[in-house]
Amino acid sequence: MQILQGLAVSSGVAFGEALIVDNEGVRIPNRFVSREVVEDEIEQLEKAIVAASHEIEANRETVSAQLGEQYGAIFSAHLQMLHDQQLRDQLNTLIRDKHFSPAYAVSQTLRRYAKVFQSLDSGSHQELASDIFDIEKRLLRQLLGHRREDLTHLSSPVIILAHELTPSETADLDRQKVLGFATEMGGAGGHTAIVAEALELPAVVGLGRFMLDISSGEMVIIDGDHGQIILQPDEETIARYRHELQQHRSLEVRLRELRDLPAETIDGSSVELLANIEFPHEISACATRGAEGIGLYRTEFLYLSSDKEPDEEIHYQAYAEVARAMGDKPVTIRTVDLGADKMFGPMHHDGMQNPELGLRSIRLSLRNLPLFRTQLRAVLRASALGNVSVMFPLVTTLQEVRQGKMVIADVMEDLEEEGISFNRNIPIGIMVEVPATVIMLDAFLNEVDFISVGTNDLIQYALAVDRTNKEVASLYDAGDPAVLRLIQMAVRSAQRAQRPVTMCGQMSGATPYTMLLVGLGFRSLSVAPSAIPEIKKICRSVTVAQCEAVAEHALRFENATDVNHFLKAELRNVAPELAAYA
Ligand code: PEP
Ligand code: MG
Repeated sequence: MQILQGLAVSSGVAFGEALIVDNEGVRIPNRFVSREVVEDEIEQLEKAIVAASHEIEANRETVSAQLGEQYGAIFSAHLQMLHDQQLRDQLNTLIRDKHFSPAYAVSQTLRRYAKVFQSLDSGSHQELASDIFDIEKRLLRQLLGHRREDLTHLSSPVIILAHELTPSETADLDRQKVLGFATEMGGAGGHTAIVAEALELPAVVGLGRFMLDISSGEMVIIDGDHGQIILQPDEETIARYRHELQQHRSLEVRLRELRDLPAETIDGSSVELLANIEFPHEISACATRGAEGIGLYRTEFLYLSSDKEPDEEIHYQAYAEVARAMGDKPVTIRTVDLGADKMFGPMHHDGMQNPELGLRSIRLSLRNLPLFRTQLRAVLRASALGNVSVMFPLVTTLQEVRQGKMVIADVMEDLEEEGISFNRNIPIGIMVEVPATVIMLDAFLNEVDFISVGTNDLIQYALAVDRTNKEVASLYDAGDPAVLRLIQMAVRSAQRAQRPVTMCGQMSGATPYTMLLVGLGFRSLSVAPSAIPEIKKICRSVTVAQCEAVAEHALRFENATDVNHFLKAELRNVAPELAAYA
């Protein structure tokens, strides 16, 4: 058994068979074979080795001819490894004595070898390790066929283990079969994490190298609450997690009873609880969790789930579905926030340096006016069907807001001329995600109807920490005093200007921060649908005065560790059953 620590990004516990996904998506369906077929299986392995040798020989010849003998020699080394008698003997013994399937024996043995080389810290040993992987892949392809595992249609329940998953790959996972996932890369604030939460998939990211320690088909536990994964768990650990899963379920059932009750503090202040969504199908989860509206609809997933650019009708159908389903409840549609970790094929800027500081979000929309206008036409058309607002992401200058509003006015004129109905008074808001915007917020508030604080990016830009980079993940912290002060500035500016303010970053759905945010003055929070019951429970367990005292105290600390420690202790006092998962 091995316990690995990563970053907790989507809560819950899952256990099941591992499916290792690399670029090839190789999966080992059967790990063991029956005694009667052992000799046949050894023959299969022999055939696979012969076929792989032919492949390698062909590669050697092509590469030697094109690049020279010294490059072809790489493949001679592969051939040598493949024909190594000791390796053959080990594989045959595993199949004959332990009844391993050939694929499982190959994966286990070669990964063990590769791991030894990887642990030796020299360049040539690292190269040897990747050569061994190459051979593993080649043999598995021979043994299992050339089928690439289709993660959108899996045949049995699995836990996905991958080096990295993009937000769109995550969005496309087969929700019926994928029980959870873990990745070597990724940060807590990345969109892969956000999508995992939307799909309610237990997930851990930023684990560093671990895939050598496990083969497909082996048992793995994802502990999304504590950011851990457990490889090859023992019986006792499995039993403990089964118990935890039950606890989770019973807490969920208890929280479900709050669905139709308001998120009202003990002393009668209401907190509006809205939902963040990425896909129209999430509106059913919003209804089950008792969302009072949609505070953030991340529309860029329309692009990320498809290879081609969505046209006006595709935009409109999605927005209309959400607007209609929500009736008179508010729906805030955010214009596309592409770029950074949400790249869309045709707009992909390969090799762009510092994409988080580059052409993304509103900057990208203003540079691609046809794209922007198409989306705005669809948003405006949907505004005739419900209580729709529009919001610009990552606004940094006043000029961007003014330009954005001009494009809206222009699109409205077109629609009017075409006799298409829309809400002329559609509220226009901005995301507050950049420290510059917080500092200049008084001026921005003269231009807009509402603001929404996006802490995922605000933390990244305030602390100069890439939200997707696991190497600096420990610096990415919502509890950092600088972040708290920026948030306080934002909420105070909004109050002075008497403009509605909400918060829609992941921080608003993280239970340790609820009292702080209410204490700072937030009366509207937009969170992943799955987080609504917990946040409501906290709101109903506290008074505003209590929260104000918590906020005042939290703002006195000088580092994130002390802030977080204090907030968790306060949470334990008011909602101990939730603090266990915080
Ligand atoms: C944010 O930055 O807080 C936010 C809600 O936007 P996104 O996570 O989509 O960048
Ligand atoms: Mg953002």
